[in-house]
Amino acid sequence: MGRGPRHTETDGGNVSGSNSGPKAKATQVVTAGRRKEWTQGIVNPPVWRASTILYEDVEEMRANGRRDTHHRLFYGRRGTPTQWALADALTQLEPGAEATFLYPSGVAAISAALLSVLSPGDELLLPDSAYEPTTAFAGGMLKRFGIATRTYDPMIGAGIAELIGENTRAVFLESPGSLTFEVQDVPAIVAVAKEHGLVTLLDNTWATPLLFPAIEKGIDLSILACTKYVVGHSDVMLGSVTATKEFWPRLRATSFQLGQTVGPDDAWLGSRGLRTMATRLKQHGESALRVAKWLKGRPEVARVLHPALDDCPGSAFFHRDFAGGSGLFSIVLDGCGDAERVAMIDALELFGIGFSWGGYESLALPIDPEKLRKVVPWETEGPAIRLHIGLEDPDDLIADLERGLQCVRPNR
Ligand SMILES: *Cc1c(COP(=O)(O)O)cnc(C)c1O
Repeated sequence: MGRGPRHTETDGGNVSGSNSGPKAKATQVVTAGRRKEWTQGIVNPPVWRASTILYEDVEEMRANGRRDTHHRLFYGRRGTPTQWALADALTQLEPGAEATFLYPSGVAAISAALLSVLSPGDELLLPDSAYEPTTAFAGGMLKRFGIATRTYDPMIGAGIAELIGENTRAVFLESPGSLTFEVQDVPAIVAVAKEHGLVTLLDNTWATPLLFPAIEKGIDLSILACTKYVVGHSDVMLGSVTATKEFWPRLRATSFQLGQTVGPDDAWLGSRGLRTMATRLKQHGESALRVAKWLKGRPEVARVLHPALDDCPGSAFFHRDFAGGSGLFSIVLDGCGDAERVAMIDALELFGIGFSWGGYESLALPIDPEKLRKVVPWETEGPAIRLHIGLEDPDDLIADLERGLQCVRPNR
């Protein structure tokens, strides 16, 4: 395990006791970020609301302006202990990380991270399986500011070296990919990027640092849509970027310039969700694998795109690199059309129909990856569905899916 985050090392009152050696991740989600000076002894760091910070006298105001404002009250936009507690906790979950900046959504985190490392004339490498709004940001605002994007096959691995040109500056990764769950060979891509002096950014929303400690694996900027598993209850929008020492200053400066800030109530709900994340993820992971394996045995299902199953490209990398799986995967139906898919989803009683996953409830969503692909055409036996397996009893979910599948005629 790497060194602890710099900004917690000197803190004698830290409940996480960073001096007493590494702790298991499940312990860290409980203890991290709960400094006594921020909690005043209350278990959950309370909500500190502020825009204006008042100073004792002009000298104090001037002195504060000359000091580093990290974890120091300065102006509401730079946060209060409520936001710092969550940011600090996320940093502690990423061994080797320097610090974390919070954003009002996952997409805000992605765009700020990209803007912090790219300049006009640069080129970005982006996987074909990236989250759609990430692709839209690259093709929209980045393009408008003179930053080109080259889309790559998520399974490219070390072959990414061949795509690197004179202006290539950054490699974006998302593993597993959105909707189609290709697991990337992150160590191979990181090694090539380092050799060429490129920045790496990873959307780690599916795994979180609990299942894939991105910074420890050599990533420079680790991005989370905290809206999903950190919040865990489908009621708050929140994002984060955790950076190495090298990239933290420019991430922070860019985010300040963009005016990015998160309300203390949302940060507090994020911290509250984080405390149970290890336990929730374990259950999401176990139940999802169970449901995925059951679906794999069904004649109506052609493929189950769950990173742990070998239908899924890169499942060997999943078994090599990840500490476990979470609750989201897709299935490809065998031979039927959209009408049967719609009938199946509409017939489900325990699965809601909605986009933002990571909460305690199960979801089913029709997906059409073929409409998004740029360089790797999506070959398919039939229509696809993305499932989020929530915290309901998996036997009940399987019974619900069995009823839904009656709407899909088997092809054999
Ligand atoms: C949902 C999601 C995001 C965006 O998060 P928001 O908080 O909804 O903006 C980013 N990346 C991935 C992989 C996601 O699933």
